[in-house]
Amino acid sequence: MTATPTTATPTTPTPATPAQTTPALTTTTDRHLLSVADLGRAGIDDIMTLADSFKEVSERRIPKVPALRGKTVATLFFEASTRTRLSFETAAKRLSADVMSFSASSSSLEKGESLRDTVETIDAMGVDAMIVRHKSSGVPMRITSWTSASVINAGDGQHEHPTQALLDCYTIREALAARSGSGSRAGAGAEPPAGFAGLRIGIIGDIKHSRVARSNVLAFSALGADVVLVAPRTLLPPSLEGWPVEATAELDSVLPDLDVVYLLRIQAERAGQVLLPDLDEYHVRFGLTAERARRLSPQALVMHPGPMIRGVEIAPEAADLPSSLVTRQVRNGVFIRSAVLFHLLGASGPPAADAADDEKSGNA
Ligand code: ASP
Repeated sequence: MTATPTTATPTTPTPATPAQTTPALTTTTDRHLLSVADLGRAGIDDIMTLADSFKEVSERRIPKVPALRGKTVATLFFEASTRTRLSFETAAKRLSADVMSFSASSSSLEKGESLRDTVETIDAMGVDAMIVRHKSSGVPMRITSWTSASVINAGDGQHEHPTQALLDCYTIREALAARSGSGSRAGAGAEPPAGFAGLRIGIIGDIKHSRVARSNVLAFSALGADVVLVAPRTLLPPSLEGWPVEATAELDSVLPDLDVVYLLRIQAERAGQVLLPDLDEYHVRFGLTAERARRLSPQALVMHPGPMIRGVEIAPEAADLPSSLVTRQVRNGVFIRSAVLFHLLGASGPPAADAADDEKSGNA
């Protein structure tokens, strides 16, 4: 028997609830995932529900389903990545897709080939999805006009990183569900909300250069959370007009009320200039120090998209707290990316023979 995902129905995307701050770069289509705006609230909920099925698959003796057998997924990474590439490749393999892996540093780009020729070369080999990471905003959208494959944005410049936002929403939802399931509400402080509505999420650090911040603001606010950005003026975008957020430079004034403390790395590779006089001073003013961690509400969740720079945005003691969800985020990334791949490529479900083969392999 095949997994639940083979019978699930992909959703029709709806526009995102929060205002778009970079409208020129987003599209709404059911074939690509370029922005959280391609999904909207209903789409985010549907992907999280699909991810539950893949979480269940991961607990099986053989954590694999034939849903994408015969499909080919290519990862095109023009910028460094550890977890996102491995996570997408693991997700594709768990769906039985064939995986092609392209790395800019060992490609003909090094010999002067253009981005378009590189994409068209990979397209000519016959791929069903291209998962693209690039240092420039808008590249995944540009690529949609050079290929008939589905394009998934795995992080473009400082624009968006939609699967990171989806896995973050999923991780928060899972933590809230575990808490209400266990009935453990002990401890001081106000009870946090049971769902996203009214949840107070602080995103702290280099908002200006962070694609994670942009996607997460869209996703968290679409689900009904209140988002507060905490950063020095130099690490905020020049204008927050249209962003459904509050902003402050006073971490200590908002910290006790946060249900989720979401820390960001300083994106030195994107800054192009020195924005901070001193990283030690940054740690003292904006880092989750061990002392601040002690002042968090007992129910507060600590998150980071990785890579974490311990001692800058987060103290080692805070990174290793039981309330830190960082490794959960990584684990859930595989379920979310499986759901996204299935949502975009698996609409017709596997051929009947696949289900029979699956039963023979003991994967019922
Ligand atoms: N991994 C995330 C990204 O690719 C966050 C980071 O690099 O700081 O944007």
